[in-house]
Amino acid sequence: MPLKMDLSHFVPEKIKECDRKLREKDEQLTLLKTENAMLHLKLAQLQGLVQASYREANLAKELLEIDKHSCKINSELALHLKNQIKDVKNDLLTLRSSVKGLPEVVHSDFQWAVQRSAELNQQMVSDNLDLQELRDKLFETEEELDEMKERHAKEKRRRRELHNTLVELRGNIRVHCRTRPLLNFDSGKLDPSNLGQAGTPSEEVIMVIDDENLSVKANKAWQQTTPKNFEFERVYSPVEDQKVVFEEVQPLLTSLLDGYNVCIMAYGQTGSGKTYTMLGDSYTDPTTCNDNLQSSPSEGVIPRAARELFRLVNERTHDFHRVEMSVAEIYNNEIRDLLHGNSGRSLKHTVTMADDGSCEVPSLTQRMVQNASEVVDLVHYGMLHRHEDATLVHAHSSRSHLIVTLTITSISTSSGSTSSSSKSSRCHSPLPRSTAGTMTPPPYRRRIPSLKIRSRSPSPSRSTPPPDMTGIVKTKLQLVDLAGSECVGMSGVTGAALRETSFINRSLSALADVLAALAEERSHIPYRNSKLTHMLQDTIGGDAKLLVMCCVSPAQRYITESLQCLGFGSRARQIQRGPPKKRTSTSFVAGINSSCDSSPTTTPRGRSRFSSFPVVDKTEHKLPPPKIIVSSIAQANQEIVLPIPVKASKPSNIPIPKRVTKSDDYPPIPSGRRSPRPLKNKNAKK
Ligand code: ADP
Ligand code: MG
Repeated sequence: MPLKMDLSHFVPEKIKECDRKLREKDEQLTLLKTENAMLHLKLAQLQGLVQASYREANLAKELLEIDKHSCKINSELALHLKNQIKDVKNDLLTLRSSVKGLPEVVHSDFQWAVQRSAELNQQMVSDNLDLQELRDKLFETEEELDEMKERHAKEKRRRRELHNTLVELRGNIRVHCRTRPLLNFDSGKLDPSNLGQAGTPSEEVIMVIDDENLSVKANKAWQQTTPKNFEFERVYSPVEDQKVVFEEVQPLLTSLLDGYNVCIMAYGQTGSGKTYTMLGDSYTDPTTCNDNLQSSPSEGVIPRAARELFRLVNERTHDFHRVEMSVAEIYNNEIRDLLHGNSGRSLKHTVTMADDGSCEVPSLTQRMVQNASEVVDLVHYGMLHRHEDATLVHAHSSRSHLIVTLTITSISTSSGSTSSSSKSSRCHSPLPRSTAGTMTPPPYRRRIPSLKIRSRSPSPSRSTPPPDMTGIVKTKLQLVDLAGSECVGMSGVTGAALRETSFINRSLSALADVLAALAEERSHIPYRNSKLTHMLQDTIGGDAKLLVMCCVSPAQRYITESLQCLGFGSRARQIQRGPPKKRTSTSFVAGINSSCDSSPTTTPRGRSRFSSFPVVDKTEHKLPPPKIIVSSIAQANQEIVLPIPVKASKPSNIPIPKRVTKSDDYPPIPSGRRSPRPLKNKNAKK
């Protein structure tokens, strides 16, 4: 049996004990928990620290890597620098060794420079002396050259004067030649920038050698290969302007007032500068000529001649001068009055022998002129009615011959002569006159543009000379702008224009025939074969002074025409008509009809007291209309043949081909068209 023990007393104690122990344990647990929490916290803190240190360790590692790399670079750089320093050191060593010898070199160089400079100084002094000597010599040579130039110019002038005298004594025709500059239209259809280029149609083939010679370089297969030289009284280069040209023409104006008939004509193909030479560039502008003003540089011979004429008239105050003018054209062998306006176009005009023996066209309008601008006004007025047409060569090709005639009636009050040597004391005329010395009665005064043109009718006040008047001399200045001398193909015209060209060619051939007859001193001069030669009869032949201005274009494409023109000029130079005679008061009746093919003629009206030689123009030669034959073969080839009767004549030196084509390149002269007849070559210069 179990022993029963009182535990009541023990158990509470035990429980109390246990409670106390439990409480202690709880307290311990709480303490431990707190400690644990504290430790957790610490752990967390430590973990954070560990992580931070870890990151730092990584960073440090990276930095270490970078450091390592930079260390490597630095060591490389250091090596490089080391090498460089080594090099520099080497250089320095070399420099040092070279610098060591430098002062000596510099010193010796300096010595040499000093020596050289002394030498050069010496040389300069001697050179200066030489230079001075040379300068003196140059000065002397220049002076000599100037002197020689002056002497040469004087000799040249003298030679020209003597030549002119010789020309005068022989009765030669003065032939001048003018070469115009190349112009854009010379390049034809080609680009004008190629103007003048070798091998193109605009290549310059006419070269002016000096003021008397020119040479033509021909390079077509059928032409001569060596240059052909031509000599004229005066050759104008393309750069010589209108003033220079007129200076050469001027003496003829003095001759005019000294009692000679004068004719200046421009010959040449279309576009060669005839109108430019005779009238100038601005002939359509009437304001360009004013006798009180300076002439415009482009003015041609006509306005300048008019100004010079009135200048001379003004100088000769002791004589009375009446200047009348007419402007006519010869179109299709008909004379047309260009001062009559359109209404007078159909009027027929004939050339007759005047009572003073000169040739005139009495039905032409004559206008009294008192100054150069009136002359120019009338020429401009006339030009408005002149026949012009566009051709292949240029747009204003003149299809007619323009003839401006200035008739000067000079009345000398004492000696019967009109020479400039007349004394000024003779200036006591009862006639009214202008300050210019021209007779200027009020009824004759008129102003352009109210161009009320009267036909010629002698004024009572004009036809009555002063009581003490002892000599009347009538001289004539004819200024002629001929129509283009080119052949049909060159002008590229057809139809009516072709007919015009044919008439032009015929009249120019007639002109050549007259010159040939004069050259050959034939008894019969065929002036009447064309209106042109008939109208110019007393200024081409007889006692007149004739100047032919041959105008040529320098371009290769016109070479045929240019050679033809130069040939015409050369042959005209050979003519010897005997010394020209002054027209005196008696030459009113003496006339020039000894050599011309005149038959007795009468003037239509007895117009003055000098009608003792009534003559009538019975044998007026009418040119048959030109026949234009276009043969079938020629038609096929577009060739036109103009038959013009050919007289037996010496062959020309210049080869002239026989056919005309319409090609743009310069065509040969038509077979029918006669080149001017070769004249008797008396003084031909090779
Ligand atoms: P043509 O009358 O012979 O048919 P133009 O006198 O009408 O020829 O000249 C043709 C062109 O050439 C014009 O435009 C003219 O101005 C020009 N001309 C002619 N000669 C010269 C020159 N010497 N200087 C400058 N231009 C010129
Ligand atoms: Mg012209």
